[in-house]
Amino acid sequence: MEVLNLERKPIVGISMKIYKNTSEELQVYTNTLVDKYPKDLNVDVFILPSMGTLHPVSKILLDTQVGWGSQNMAPFKNGAYTGELSVESLVELGAKYVEIGHFERRTIFKETDEMIADKVSLALENNLIPIICIGEFSRHDLASVQGELESQIGSALSQADSGQLNQVVFAYEPAWAIGQREAADYTYVHKVHKLIRTILKDKYGDQDTSGTRLIYGGSVSMDNAEAIMDSPDVDGVFVGRFGHDINNFIEIVRLAQ
Ligand code: PEP
Repeated sequence: MEVLNLERKPIVGISMKIYKNTSEELQVYTNTLVDKYPKDLNVDVFILPSMGTLHPVSKILLDTQVGWGSQNMAPFKNGAYTGELSVESLVELGAKYVEIGHFERRTIFKETDEMIADKVSLALENNLIPIICIGEFSRHDLASVQGELESQIGSALSQADSGQLNQVVFAYEPAWAIGQREAADYTYVHKVHKLIRTILKDKYGDQDTSGTRLIYGGSVSMDNAEAIMDSPDVDGVFVGRFGHDINNFIEIVRLAQ
């Protein structure tokens, strides 16, 4: 059965990881983004600055059309969790998004499926849009990829209220395409996004997930973004290193239209 395609607004974001960490660097980047990005486009744009620069970025983006968020947050609202960032601080600063379960967090920082599920439900309870990263850890045939994605999606949404799934953004980021010279081949991305859309529809129904946006991340650049987004199942892209030059990022935003 065909998956119902309600209007989904294209969305393009960038994560700075911890490549750019000074207030000055992020102020220059964010001010340029606000000045130059094409406001007439019907595209949601967001930036996930490094944690130490959230405050200056939040001040610049107040009352603008550009959203921002953090690359992670604690799975608990508050309490004795040394060194964590609370959802309460994000809400107070005016965040709109929070990235959850990036491959680097799952592997380097040993985040478990349970922690990811807790963070997703906490984000939704606090009206933040969770950008849930999913993707196979190594290259496989499509059937195994499907199994891996079903399990990641099912566990990430295990505590989420089904009425809020249309707010969720999934970032499909196959681990083998992160930090590379080239993104995954666009035909492969289109196939996997179609698969994810079908997984969502079969498990949660069209009504609750036809607005759920699916973006691709992993070595997205000005050169590959257009082909990657040329599918009804790809609602945008999640950019990393190749958006550090603000002009490249703005060009990718334009391509999303
Ligand atoms: C990422 O890992 O989320 C990402 C977008 O990184 P890059 O584009 O630098 O591979």
